[in-house]
Amino acid sequence: MAPPPRLRPRAVVLAAALGLALVLLIDRFVEAESPSYVVLGLVDEPAHFTTAALCLAALAALWPRPLPRAYVLVALAASVLIDADHVPDAVFDSQVLTSGTPRPYPHSMTTLALAALVALAARGRLRVVAAGIATGVALHLLRDLATAPVALWWPLTPRHVTIPYVAYGCALTAAAALVVARPGRVLRAQARE
Ligand SMILES: [Zn+2]
Repeated sequence: MAPPPRLRPRAVVLAAALGLALVLLIDRFVEAESPSYVVLGLVDEPAHFTTAALCLAALAALWPRPLPRAYVLVALAASVLIDADHVPDAVFDSQVLTSGTPRPYPHSMTTLALAALVALAARGRLRVVAAGIATGVALHLLRDLATAPVALWWPLTPRHVTIPYVAYGCALTAAAALVVARPGRVLRAQARE
């Protein structure tokens, strides 16, 4: 089988700049148009994926060793798949996961803490997967907190938490800047293959 095409540092720089621009444009569109729930979902998931990809690339630029491929893939998947907990409410009109909270219960520190605990306690592949889930959920919540209220401390309290959008925008810009400054380090894992 032919090896996968190798990315060049210039492609990483371009992807980081385009990713940042994409998320900011999506959020301007949502703010200006207040789209329907379906359209919101269609534009919000790519923004979540791009947020996670930018932050993971920034982490790769900082981390002393290349990030495990499985960790990165699980984190990217978790950063989008956690929104499956909206299905009972959105599709079946059931409040089983959202009674008294603005977003479903798994959108909370409880999910993050459980995944982090498993990552700390486990070894081998399970540890990598749990760490990936914890990272993906954390990066998902980072964006959700900036775009609408989250019952972050459920079940301790259903109190809604938000962060200023500008904090999220600055974090994303800093992540993109790190990737642009050190694209070679982001590509280290590929260099070892
Ligand atoms: Zn969400």
